[in-house]
Amino acid sequence: MASEVLVLGAGMVGVSTALALQQRGRQVVLVDRRPPGRETSYGNAGFIQREAVQPYAFPRSWQALWRVATGQGNDVHVHWTALPSLAGRLLRYWQSSAPAPYANTCAAYARLIAHCIAEHEPLMAAAGAQHLVRKEGWLQLYRQPALLEAALRHATQVAQAHGLNWAALDGPALVQLEPGLRETPAGAIHWRDPWTISDPGALVEHYAALFVQRGGRIAEGDADSLQQTGLGWRVQTRDGALEAEAAVLALGPWAEAHTRRLGYRLPLFAKRGYHRHYQGGGTLRRPVLDTDHGVVLAPMQRGLRLTTGAEFASAGAPATPVQLHVAERAAERLLGLGQPVEAQPWLGARPCSADMLPVIGPAPRHRGLWFHFGHGHQGFTLGPASARLLAERMCGQTPYVDPAPYDPSRFG
Ligand SMILES: Cc1cc2nc3c(=O)[nH]c(=O)nc-3n(C[C@H](O)[C@H](O)[C@H](O)COP(=O)(O)OP(=O)(O)OC[C@H]3O[C@@H](n4cnc5c(N)ncnc54)[C@H](O)[C@@H]3O)c2cc1C
Repeated sequence: MASEVLVLGAGMVGVSTALALQQRGRQVVLVDRRPPGRETSYGNAGFIQREAVQPYAFPRSWQALWRVATGQGNDVHVHWTALPSLAGRLLRYWQSSAPAPYANTCAAYARLIAHCIAEHEPLMAAAGAQHLVRKEGWLQLYRQPALLEAALRHATQVAQAHGLNWAALDGPALVQLEPGLRETPAGAIHWRDPWTISDPGALVEHYAALFVQRGGRIAEGDADSLQQTGLGWRVQTRDGALEAEAAVLALGPWAEAHTRRLGYRLPLFAKRGYHRHYQGGGTLRRPVLDTDHGVVLAPMQRGLRLTTGAEFASAGAPATPVQLHVAERAAERLLGLGQPVEAQPWLGARPCSADMLPVIGPAPRHRGLWFHFGHGHQGFTLGPASARLLAERMCGQTPYVDPAPYDPSRFG
């Protein structure tokens, strides 16, 4: 056999998986139809979100549902024609967001995310990627005093429970920290633990280069060709057929289609998001989440990157960047935006699961096949921490966090 493990998908999750297995002595081939880090792991906001101990729940109050249904706010956009096909999975998402199951989800999520920086840090150092990292945290900005007060109360509770480092800023203190702002909002929460990345795709490329430098191999191939053989798994690549004892599906938003082909019905769905860069406008020292408009403004190497909230749409539906247009107008008032860099906005999709937890573990009905996807809003953050857990399980080591909440068998 040419290798012991095929890792399909070279986003942050797949590349981190390849490195974690390699570190445990496995011969790994990383297979993707594109070069590493060109899809969702390229287009995100670049936060390594140590503070994200609570995943995004489905709104449970009638007021919040009414806000989405009537198109108020800019954080969520819905293609109503997509709802019939999404209804079953969204119902499970809504059920999982009830107080009792959500509390369990948060406990499991927090246990994994607690390790995000500690697992990224040695990879960044070994890959020579420190120049991409900013350790200034990020700002959660509010214009309305009542909303700021509520957010500060929530942040106080969460930070105490999880030992997070943060600060409350009033309007003048915020403008002092970010002198590029043209407005003086009510204030902000400054989350100080998170690191942010000035080119998310480049970080994945650095990790992939480290994998190759350590003896790993990257091949261009299509996961559609994956087949079980008598001894393991085979995939077709430009270099010919590759076989291995084990295969890992790390296909991000494409995992649903591939697991369906293998006979699984996992409650996976995508939350689409857009980004675009702008140059020649105002500048920021660290990323800002404008909560009123559901947009992140992140200083990146290519310019100021605006990333939008969630869009629910059918797979392959045409781009409808209405949230980005609202965000552009708000960012122009807040900061001054300059000119767009790209002719068209980038469109990608957060790979989500209905219970808000990633899927990490053995495929229930296929020997030697492992699942590693569904990291939702925080896959860029969680890649290395989640990869360590999967690699420990694959190599028969004691898992460093309880693997049960993330095991694929939880879906029955
Ligand atoms: C707008 C937006 C902002 C975000 N902001 C953040 C953030 O700030 N912080 C954070 O932690 N997360 C963020 N996320 C989420 C994060 O980007 C994702 O969770 C993460 O990138 C998922 O990584 P992945 O490796 O699973 O998927 P991907 O990066 O999409 O990788 C999947 C890979 O599979 C490959 N592939 C697909 N089909 C095939 C096939 N048939 N054959 C071979 N290869 C195939 C693709 O080419 C791709 O390389 C954001 C997401 C969006 C959309």
